[in-house]
Amino acid sequence: MSFTSIKLADGTEYQQPLGLFINNEYVEAHGSETLTSYNPSSGEEICKVQCADPKIDVDLAVKAARDAFPGWKATPAIEKRDLFYKLAGLLERDIDILSKIESLDTGKPIANNAKYDILEVVEVLKYYAGWIDKAGGQSFAPSSEKLAYTLHQPLGVVGCIIPFNYPLAMMSWKWTAIATGNTTVFKSADQTPLSILYFAKLVKEAGFPAGVFNVLSGTGASVGSAIVKHTGVDKIAFTGSTAVGQIIQQQSAVNLKPITLECGGKSANMIFEDCDLEQAVKWSAWGIFNNMGQICSGTSRVFVQESIYEEFVAQLADHVKKTYIVGAPSDDAVIVGPQVSKKQQERVLEYIKIGIEEGCKVPLGGLGAPEPIANDPALANGYYVKPTILADVKASYRIAKEEIFGPVIVVGSFKDYKEALDIANDSDYGLGSAIFSKDIVTCHKFAQDVEAGMVWINSSNDVDINVPFGGVKMSGHGRELGEYGLANFTNVKSVHVNLGRKL
Ligand code: NAD
Repeated sequence: MSFTSIKLADGTEYQQPLGLFINNEYVEAHGSETLTSYNPSSGEEICKVQCADPKIDVDLAVKAARDAFPGWKATPAIEKRDLFYKLAGLLERDIDILSKIESLDTGKPIANNAKYDILEVVEVLKYYAGWIDKAGGQSFAPSSEKLAYTLHQPLGVVGCIIPFNYPLAMMSWKWTAIATGNTTVFKSADQTPLSILYFAKLVKEAGFPAGVFNVLSGTGASVGSAIVKHTGVDKIAFTGSTAVGQIIQQQSAVNLKPITLECGGKSANMIFEDCDLEQAVKWSAWGIFNNMGQICSGTSRVFVQESIYEEFVAQLADHVKKTYIVGAPSDDAVIVGPQVSKKQQERVLEYIKIGIEEGCKVPLGGLGAPEPIANDPALANGYYVKPTILADVKASYRIAKEEIFGPVIVVGSFKDYKEALDIANDSDYGLGSAIFSKDIVTCHKFAQDVEAGMVWINSSNDVDINVPFGGVKMSGHGRELGEYGLANFTNVKSVHVNLGRKL
């Protein structure tokens, strides 16, 4: 089986698997296609991984998962729970190397970003471990002669398709499928195939039975689509763009498989004049500049009540300049690394250009490479974008409507509550939203009125594993995380018991 030696940021080397992971073994792909993984901070090639053959390898992975399903479904809950805890422990043991691999492949700063992703994976596994031995159904006793109850049963084989922005964290949210007794075929994002292949060996080491967790690399149009269209797959759990979500919704009709879609967003953040301005500035920056702005629920369009608009923009520019330090992912002081790919960098720069052409002011950032990067030969070819504020934005501008998915915040103003709500709801998307105000009545009214799956009152992107995550409108459907997340991966079966009623 193919491995290659890869050097990490601190000079240590590890063996990166390059093939597929099926039935608890690394195997060679059939076919000769490869995907090239690049280091986003230097633009250099890291390695090539093998793409799954969309027919032979997808069939093999689905068969492995199908064969494993009856055994995994029947495994006692306490055994499943203990495997989850064991796996979480192995991640804690390997957090250092996993953070570095994730950073190398995505450009995430190790200390301030990649490490938190791995900690999130640990917490998600422990959280769902806690549910495994507690999940139950409902019981009904409509008369003394009748009892009925529900069983929550796994669906079978779940195809899990994940995006580039949080490769392992988004993967872990889909481990709910495994917690509820399903078996899985995962497909990593084209740009970020490395960490999940390393993670796979920890799944085997923890003792999960062969076939419960299978991993394929490959492009979406080829391998992703083959998983979606496969009649041996009972459910698709997808996180990614709205455009691909639409294709998946159509293609999954082949066997009417249920799907959950966690898609794109353009989350509104409404700042009222009675807010705590300093906190509104800090949370607004956090809500879009962490993870280099590659956040589906990022509160990327901010509208501020007219009376405090100028002050807000000035304080935001000052805070972002001081706090969101750009640089090498290996530097512990750095918060903003490169974009994941050259394509993503070009897309974000194009949107900054569009914003300038639409008539925005640029109080911070803009086109061109960030200064410390342009002058550093090791980083000069990295996919960096300056943290950018585009101000005086009108709600009708393209940059206020389309998902940029980079370190760019667009800021405009509103007069009153009605206008704020109209702007917030004037979007095809409906993932997150935020409001800053000390008036709790206004905040609760906004929470009820806004068309979004999530509302943050006086914070932004303050995600919690206990609390469901997901959107409405073209941001998708279904929820991940929390108890609600379990419902995505089970069928409810109703059992009617006749205790003596005679016809
Ligand atoms: P993407 O849609 O381009 O790709 C996501 C995944 O889908 C990748 O694995 C890709 O290979 C696969 N894919 C592409 N075409 C496919 C097809 N025809 N059939 C099956 N699979 C296919 O998204 P991306 O660029 O990796 O990620 C960024 C997007 O993801 C953004 O729009 C972001 O908002 C969204 N996202 C949403 C959430 C959420 O929870 N709502 C979380 C993270 C990212």
